[in-house]
Amino acid sequence: MEDKIKTMARMILDARHVVVFTGAGVSVESGIPDFRSPGGIWERFDPNEFDYDAFCADPATYWRNRLEGRHASALDMFQAKPNPAHLAIARLQKEGRVKTVITQNIDNLHQDAGSTDVVELHGNARWVRCQECWQRMPSSDADLQAKSGQIPPLCRCGGILKPDVIFFGEMLPQRAIQRAMAEAMYCDMMVVVGSSLVVYPAANIPALAAEHARLCIVNLEPTPLDAVAGVVIHGKAGEVLPAVVEAMGR
Ligand SMILES: [Zn+2]
Repeated sequence: MEDKIKTMARMILDARHVVVFTGAGVSVESGIPDFRSPGGIWERFDPNEFDYDAFCADPATYWRNRLEGRHASALDMFQAKPNPAHLAIARLQKEGRVKTVITQNIDNLHQDAGSTDVVELHGNARWVRCQECWQRMPSSDADLQAKSGQIPPLCRCGGILKPDVIFFGEMLPQRAIQRAMAEAMYCDMMVVVGSSLVVYPAANIPALAAEHARLCIVNLEPTPLDAVAGVVIHGKAGEVLPAVVEAMGR
């Protein structure tokens, strides 16, 4: 493990353009359940509640359920704090060692940790978006409206507000995907953290990078790209990344 950490530190120091790609494993260490793992929210809640067509057909039901506290995932997310993995990534970014963070997570914890350039492939639960004019506003504003009886909450233009996270059956945000693909093509090193690389199309991004760039993977479980990665560390992101930052300073 120690040798692998040193190798990863050296690879980051030697690289010209490092991109970090994160998945649910990073959020899990902040207490946010992985939606797709046993005990994740899909076991406790009906996935249809996060179905895009169902929301469009009946947004009021979604907001009523949310108001009644049935969406525990939102609560988990708003109370969560960044962990040492988020902080290590933010520090590397501030020092210019990491250029961009691409994330599958929707909890805003990279930004809370101080990261600035964050590409969100699946949206961000702190925000809602008007389905008419596409303006984004804090989800707390929409929750206040719902609490005061306006269900579904509305934009100033009269459009219906939807959480700015990608529901089942909804297209991924094209601008974020394009940006992520461009970063994957331009980088010479990608560090995958806490992603099992099985959720598509997001997992295409590291696969694209692996065609020409060096790859490091930090994940508890094996991933389909382990075989082509320069370094693979099966460990907790919150332990491995701070150790890498420390090794870089030596
Ligand atoms: Zn609007």
